[in-house]
This record gives sequence, structure tokens and C-alpha cells, in this order.
Amino acid sequence: MANQDDQFKKVISHAKEYGYVFQSSEIYDGLSAVYDYAQNGAELKKNIRDYWWKAMVQMHDNIVGIDTAIFMHPTTWKASGHVDAFSDPLIDNKDSKKRYRADVLVEDYCLKIEAKIEKEVKKAEKRFGDSFNKAEFIATNPRVLGYQEKIDTILSRLGKSLEAEDLADVKALIEELEIACPLSGSRNWTDVKQFNLMFGTKLGASAETAMDLYLRPETAQGIFVNFLNVQKTGRMKIPFGIAQTGKAFRNEIVARQFIFRMREFEQMEMQFFIKPGTQKKWFEHWKETRMKWHLSLGMGEDNYRFHDHEKLAHYADAATDIEFKFPFGFKELEGIHSRTDFDLKAHEEHSGKKLQYFDHEENKSYTPYVLETSIGLDRMFLAVFSNALMEEELENNTTRTVLKLPAVLAPVKAAVFPLVKKDGLPEVAKEIIEDLKWDFNVFYDEKDAVGKRYRRQDANGTPFCITVDHQTLEDKTVTIRHRDTMEQSRVAISELKDIIKKEVDVKEWLMKM
Ligand code: ATP
Repeated sequence: MANQDDQFKKVISHAKEYGYVFQSSEIYDGLSAVYDYAQNGAELKKNIRDYWWKAMVQMHDNIVGIDTAIFMHPTTWKASGHVDAFSDPLIDNKDSKKRYRADVLVEDYCLKIEAKIEKEVKKAEKRFGDSFNKAEFIATNPRVLGYQEKIDTILSRLGKSLEAEDLADVKALIEELEIACPLSGSRNWTDVKQFNLMFGTKLGASAETAMDLYLRPETAQGIFVNFLNVQKTGRMKIPFGIAQTGKAFRNEIVARQFIFRMREFEQMEMQFFIKPGTQKKWFEHWKETRMKWHLSLGMGEDNYRFHDHEKLAHYADAATDIEFKFPFGFKELEGIHSRTDFDLKAHEEHSGKKLQYFDHEENKSYTPYVLETSIGLDRMFLAVFSNALMEEELENNTTRTVLKLPAVLAPVKAAVFPLVKKDGLPEVAKEIIEDLKWDFNVFYDEKDAVGKRYRRQDANGTPFCITVDHQTLEDKTVTIRHRDTMEQSRVAISELKDIIKKEVDVKEWLMKM
């Protein structure tokens, strides 16, 4: 656990030091769970968004993208169920006065048991060496099985109590497990209460006529209310999808873990409209497709897993999360939900407008079913960033900090250096910049020794460093250094564009899907 905490602290400080993420309004001591993306962070975020958009919209001739408003008619949230059901179970510790999500307290308790399992596995790995079979050990070791059973029993009871809205039992569970407040250490808890997560605001100038609005807690509803507009104007035929990326707002109680859980965040969602009865097939299809998208970035197959939901949201008939191994353990990165016709039917009912599709092949109208893929852009940012940050031991017994971002997502693709600040080398380096900047985000640096400049770019995640030296003046060649291997080679200036393109081009990466 201590190691995980240390690694996570490094992630947060590195994100600040290298201009990726700042706390919002830092000069006023910040605002809890609100963050700003800095010069490098904004680029990384944009590249992740583009990577998603290209894979989901551009590469699918039956998926289109839209961009709907954050403000929506308040009835939207009545219809969607958010006014009545978008809440978290809260519990307060009477001594520290700190408020917690009751389900998260229980889940954290289970994470501690999971850490014990990992410890057993590590111990056995050491003991058995090469002959160690992890899967078999987990399936047969009595101690591990005991821990796992305990986790399953706790989570299943939590799921059932939440589903039945039996908040008294959630409190009973916390008491039975003797969970203490991490701050005060006391077990002096209030009852568990529900708390709505939507932010309210007002539209209009005068107090009497102002209309109560909510900041959208998800982007999906902007897609549902436009379903027919898009279907008609785009002459879309089922199955088809509508995608969008944009801000969403939730008054989260457990605001911690940096950009993992924010109060203002960005989603990338796609609603896929299908014929009723085909949802199982499409659920499997999108599970597989989305996992392939993640794996195409080469961040390690072992870092992902599916977590099928036992407790389904009010709108879903099947749901799974793609979980990622963050520095604090496996957590939800993306949700894939089979939402049935819940949303379109609800909007039909509340608006009085028909939201049906006429199927020419079947010669009848019906309300389509919907499959949703929903990923948090900020969470994806954290996955990419935390996975990339590492300390490497080098052969000469020194270490380097390197941010091995997938090159396609890296904010700066190449840094160009003159070896020295004289003899016409800066001019040549700047000429190279002038040429490359039409295709890539590039960076010029002439300060400090070249070795130091390399290290700065390693820590910044830049895949290539290009150095102009005296030989360049004679034969128009430069050295190009690769971030991950640190290998250097001599290439012609005229080759640079192709070399960089091959490594950073979206097509090269998406083809791996
Ligand atoms: P969680 O259980 O972690 O609160 P959720 O199940 O409520 O998430 P969804 O409503 O399914 O999340 O939202 C889809 C995606 O949006 C999530 O998979 C996550 O990546 C992202 N997301 C949700 N809430 C936040 C938040 N507060 N901050 C950042 N990203 C978020």
C-alpha cells in the first residue's frame, strides 16, 4: 500500500512539475476535486479525445458525432431518472465530521483484503520461483480462497442492500466490519442517507421568472433528446450510433484520487441504437471493440479487466466496466451499458413527442434499444499518464525519470536542439522546427548541456529528440534519439518527417486494433 501511495504521489507531483495538471485556482488554495489542464496536459487530453473520436466516429460509417449544450430543459433530468435516483449513499463520522460514501468505505475495506491476496501471491511466487502457477495458486490456496470468499460475501450483501435501498443494512454492514473513520479512527457513524449529485443553477434574470436548471451530470441525454433529429437529417439506418464528448458535472462526495473523481469532468460517450432483441449481441460486440481500443495503446494487457455488474442501474439490462490498474488498484475506467429502450421511452412520455424509428425492412415502427459506451476522458488521462511514468536504472548506475506515453498521444512529438548556441546551429535547428511544425507539435530547446535536455524531454514524454551539430552543416544530417530505447542514429534532415510520422500516426496505432 505504501508503495502504491508513493507512486501515486509521484504521479501527481510530476503532472504539476511538467505542466500537465494544476489544481484549479491554486493561488486561492484551490477548489476541491476541480483541476486545470496545463500546456502539456491540454495537448495530451486533446490527443486522447482525437484518438477516441477517430476510432469511434471517423472509422465507423454508421456513427456520427454531435456536440450538445451543457444546459438542458429541466424535464430531461426528470425523464432520465436523475432527479429521483441519481444519488449516493452518504454517511458522516460524528467525531471527524467528515462525510463518506458508504459504499466506498465498504469497497475500500475489500481492497485491503485484496491487498492481502496479492501479498500471499507475491510470497508464493518467491517460494516457488519459475514453477509458480499464479492462476492455480489463486484457485486452490485455502488462505486466498478464504479472503476471496469474504470479499464476495461483503460485496454481494452491499449490492443487495443498495438495490433494495436498505440503507440501515448498509450501516449495519459498516458496523459489523468495524470500519473506522480514516481521519478520527472512530466508529461513531450517523445513519446512511441518499444525496443527489446534480449541481443546480438558475437561468433567467429575475428571481420570479428564473428557471431552475441542472448542469448535466452526463452527456448521454443530449444524444437521446436529439435521436430523431440526427436519425432524420443524417438518414441513419439502425443499427447506428451517435457520439459526443463534453463536460459533465457531479457533486461528488468522495473527492480524492486526483483527476480520477472530479466535480467537473469530461466524458466521451457513444449511444448505439439497435433493434430490440439484439442487445446481447451488440453488448458483446462493444465490449470487445472497446477493449481492443484500449489494448491498441500498448499499456499492458494485464492492466485491464472486465467487471460485470450484479447491481444494475435503473435503466440497464446488462452492464460491465472496463477496469484499469491505477496506482491505487483496479478501478472503473469505462462503462458499457445495455440501456434497453428506457431513455427514449421516458423522453417520449415526458415530452409527448414520438421518438420511434420506422424500419423499412420490417415495415413497422419501434423504439430502438440502446447500447452505451461511456469513458471518462480525465480518467483515461490518468490511466495513460500514471502507466507511463517510470524510474529507470541505467547501465552507468544512474536513474532517469521517463514518461513513456504512447507516442500517438504524446503532447510534443519531437524536440529539436542545436548542440551549441553558436556557429549557425540554432538557425538550422529553427529551420527544422519551421518545417516539422506543419505536421507535428515540436519544441525548440537550446538551454543546458544536451544530456540534460534529453532528460527533460524524457520526463516530458517526448518520443524524439533531434540534435543539430557541426556535421549537420556539412552533410544535412542530424542525430535522432528515441525516448524509450535511448538509441541514437544519424539520419538525413529530409527523412525526419517520415521517421516521426511512422511512430506517431493515429493510423499506425489504430491498425493494431
Ligand atoms: P463511479 O462508479 O466511479 O462513480 P460511474 O459508474 O458513476 O463511476 P458512469 O456514470 O458510468 O460512472 O460514467 C461513465 C464514465 O465517466 C466512468 O467510467 C468514468 O470514467 C467517468 N466518470 C464518472 N464520474 C466521474 C468523475 N466524477 N470524475 C471523472 N470521471 C468520471
